[in-house]
Amino acid sequence: LNEFELIQRYFSRQNLAREDVVIGIGDDAAVLAVPAGMQLVISTDTFTAGVHFPTQTDPASIGHKALAVNLSDLAAMGATPAWFTLNLSLPAADPDWLAAFSQGLLALAHNHQVQLIGGDTTRGPLSITITVLGLVPAGQALLRAGAKPGDQIYVTGHLGAAGMGLLYLQGKLPLPEEYRAGVLDKLNRPLPRVQEGLLLRGLASACIDISDGLLADLGHILQASRVGATVMLENLPLAPAYRAGFNELGWDTALAHGDDYELCFTLPAAKQSALQNRLPAFEGGGPIGKIEAQPGLRLRDSLGALYRSATRGYDHFAG
Ligand code: ADP
Ligand code: MG
Repeated sequence: LNEFELIQRYFSRQNLAREDVVIGIGDDAAVLAVPAGMQLVISTDTFTAGVHFPTQTDPASIGHKALAVNLSDLAAMGATPAWFTLNLSLPAADPDWLAAFSQGLLALAHNHQVQLIGGDTTRGPLSITITVLGLVPAGQALLRAGAKPGDQIYVTGHLGAAGMGLLYLQGKLPLPEEYRAGVLDKLNRPLPRVQEGLLLRGLASACIDISDGLLADLGHILQASRVGATVMLENLPLAPAYRAGFNELGWDTALAHGDDYELCFTLPAAKQSALQNRLPAFEGGGPIGKIEAQPGLRLRDSLGALYRSATRGYDHFAG
């Protein structure tokens, strides 16, 4: 199996054919038609075995998640994903691995109508870099800066399941059978909140996706917006499995593990009813806290006491 056959067999065949792809896989570069009045939004993420996913993760999930984490970044910008590139470093051209990997990857790509337009393939330790490109009407991208004192803070969906799943796989946490499949699915097959990101355009004053944990990622909004916040712990939308295991877990895994790929956003009071109308199926329930002028992030328990987390979120170069 040479490089050309590999690309042809696993990445070209089941690919989409968008009308705005003038030249896709196969030439020296891709050529894309960007509609007038739109801005291009680009994000890239590297996904390395043993760092971003346990080495034993099934290849279809690796393919899914490598694209999902990139789509999540575009979701956080309120952009519509359109195209992506794939840089693959592989220890060997294993046909079974490639078939499963490309199936997981291209199935998610198909769901979001994002087309693979090129990439690079080399031999080396297993590592996947995806660059995703999307479109947003000029000036309408959701940014980290823009949160104002008085804005409410929301999270889409649930927190904590991905962190739980990893602790379980590492043998550090028991996980009752009834929750196992759901929790591992959330860890291995996160569903990027692309639709929610689009619906938040014109509503959210700031937005970010939660990849490194709520503390770290909400912290980025606060820093970029030059504000502070108070979060009420009892309002955190903990995953049901997490609530069941709360005595072993405490707050910190949900606050700082990350990998949930939910969106965290801030909403001015005047946009409250518009949010309910636009996102009626919004699982997150009410706000988790409020933006304040005083810098810093304060966590309060149900009695109003300050809670100090022992951790600040995932940092590749910490310690
Ligand atoms: P070049 O030597 O000109 O960089 P390559 O041989 O690396 O060309 O790639 C040939 C074509 O295949 C290019 O269009 C490139 O974008 C595409 N390609 C290479 N690897 C991948 C991949 N992993 N996924 C998708 N397209 C790929
Ligand atoms: Mg090349």
